[in-house]
Amino acid sequence: MSRSEELYERAVKVIPGGVNSPVRAYGSVGMTPRFVEGATGPYIFDADSNRYIDYIGSWGPMILGHNNQEVLKAVVRKAESGLSFGAATEIEVEMAEFICENVPSIEMIRMVNSGTEAVMSAIRVARGYTGRNKIVKFDGCYHGHSDALLVKAGSGVMTAGVPDSSGVPAGCTQDTLSAVYNNLESVKALFQEFPQEIAAVIVEPVAANMGVVLPEEGFLQGLRDLCTEHGTVLIFDEVITGFRLAFGGAQEHFGIQADLVTYGKIIGAGMPVGAYGGKREIMEQVAPVGSVYQAGTLSGNPVAMAAGLAQLKILKEHPEIYSKMRLNADTLFDGMAALVKKYKKPWKMNHIGSLGCLYFTEQDVHNYEEAKTADTKTFAAYFRFMLEHGIHLGPSQFEAMFISNAHNEETTKETLRVFEEYLRCE
Ligand SMILES: *Cc1c(COP(=O)(O)O)cnc(C)c1O
Repeated sequence: MSRSEELYERAVKVIPGGVNSPVRAYGSVGMTPRFVEGATGPYIFDADSNRYIDYIGSWGPMILGHNNQEVLKAVVRKAESGLSFGAATEIEVEMAEFICENVPSIEMIRMVNSGTEAVMSAIRVARGYTGRNKIVKFDGCYHGHSDALLVKAGSGVMTAGVPDSSGVPAGCTQDTLSAVYNNLESVKALFQEFPQEIAAVIVEPVAANMGVVLPEEGFLQGLRDLCTEHGTVLIFDEVITGFRLAFGGAQEHFGIQADLVTYGKIIGAGMPVGAYGGKREIMEQVAPVGSVYQAGTLSGNPVAMAAGLAQLKILKEHPEIYSKMRLNADTLFDGMAALVKKYKKPWKMNHIGSLGCLYFTEQDVHNYEEAKTADTKTFAAYFRFMLEHGIHLGPSQFEAMFISNAHNEETTKETLRVFEEYLRCE
């Protein structure tokens, strides 16, 4: 028995499914998880000392590659003066100033501990600000696991075969309206049905929890216009796209400003951090200035801030990171698409910036219904082959591949070599 298998045996006895987040359980690919021992650059090592080229990158935070020494040093230095005080610290101000200075739509920001918390809080603020209850989300977009947002919520929920979650009272989702990604008419119809009732429209500006689905020309601008017209708060959930699609995230990439923005994953550089921010007028609704309550004992934790800020500063100082990642990503993803063609498979490759997803379907994928046409059995076989040949992918058809600044020509070449081997054996 491998060490990963031993650990899994122990884990399932004391942790539901043996994991602290469902997708890690490998359920949808019919395997048991590899336990990770450590990681460096583009590589991750399992408990049996196998090395893999990693395309998860902790689901986004590891944009500089694993175990970046500058980030690590910042963490260690900060930790030496204490882990947490439950009181205000300078580095929280620095972090907030840094984000407000660098993201034009953000005038004020509040730190929390996860993307889930960031979105949950942003929705509460939007409701408090507008005095309205309803929110619009898109099928297949994931915004964390708070009650109101577990409606057609993408990857983890999708492959677990649970369309919603039990334990969520109908009352919690009665104000959650669901629209079709890339379909403005479906949003207009909701505004027509509920004029003056919609507090917020929340969207992943690039949907990265049903694979990778790109917004079509005019979709995000259309949402911007509809929200402005109806006095509705437009929330961009940039937990994945923020500081990844461009330094200024999807807002910079597409040239559209949201009213509120949520962050997670990447701004903690691997530490548990989330944040929500936006227009001053909206953010001043938050306690203790305003009447929307939101709090957090460990929010703005100095060690977490040190990690996140160190990473953001590196990204700011080295804009060439984005062009390098894009080049590496294009080479890999276009290379995979070319191989798919060479071996006469009908599969579709969606990619943008450092995010990509190969869909095992002959259908072009622009929304959740189309993503669901993918053959998850074929994905599972592909996943297994890649893993056994040293390529660590997200264990679900509906996860993105994440390229970091540490990926390079060599990792691309090796990945394409293994992928071609898979196609040859398929
Ligand atoms: C991961 C994710 C979240 C939730 O973040 P957690 O830190 O896992 O709670 C929210 N929105 C998007 C777009 C995400 O990808």
